[in-house]
Amino acid sequence: MIVILLGAPGSGKGTQSRILSGKYGFKHLATGDIFRGEIAAKTPLGIKAAEYVKSGKLVPDEIVTEMVAGRLELNGEKYLLDGFPRNVEQAQALAHFLSKQNESADVVIFMNLPKQEAMKRLTSRRVCSKCGEVYNVITRPTRSEGKCDSCGGDVVQREDDSEATAAKRLMVFEDLTQPLVAYYKAEQVFHEVDASKSPDDVTRQLSGVIDSVLKALK
Ligand code: AMP
Repeated sequence: MIVILLGAPGSGKGTQSRILSGKYGFKHLATGDIFRGEIAAKTPLGIKAAEYVKSGKLVPDEIVTEMVAGRLELNGEKYLLDGFPRNVEQAQALAHFLSKQNESADVVIFMNLPKQEAMKRLTSRRVCSKCGEVYNVITRPTRSEGKCDSCGGDVVQREDDSEATAAKRLMVFEDLTQPLVAYYKAEQVFHEVDASKSPDDVTRQLSGVIDSVLKALK
């Protein structure tokens, strides 16, 4: 089973993916997390991706699609794709890769969030540099200043969550990723949730969609 979560940066894809993966046993494939890990480890892939990620641009399609294809093992695994595909070309490459193995995406869920709200969430977001737990200086501050509640790691702002880079990423989303909504609507696997609601409410909406798809697949 393949679930694709679409949404602007800041719409809560990462947070919800972690919750849903725990609940349904999905393998969580988050291209942004993979790039950040590769950049921190200074691997050849990380070195190639670094400039794009830091400046809020998309990493070139051939690098991303090859990386994803290398990580998808379609032997009955359930995958949740978070941050991929990010443009129509990547969606076509994914469809091609899946069709060669008689597979296709089972559900695409668009987490819809107004741009101003996304900008507010991105610039106030903080993340634990050790375990990846996500905080927000306004809505979910750490109990102890700068330290993760779960693991005690340093809680920092992502370099690409600065105001200028966040604005750039939201522009990239509008220009390149938003067209995927129309692309997937035509494919009939499309669902939409209201990502401006509380995290628990968004989890309920997403679970409702996934439960209905799982039921139909039985
Ligand atoms: P994210 O954590 O999903 O916001 O991604 C952070 C950054 O990683 C993006 O701004 C891009 O530079 C890069 N990235 C992540 N996923 C993709 C993708 N599917 N295609 C191209 N670049 C990506």
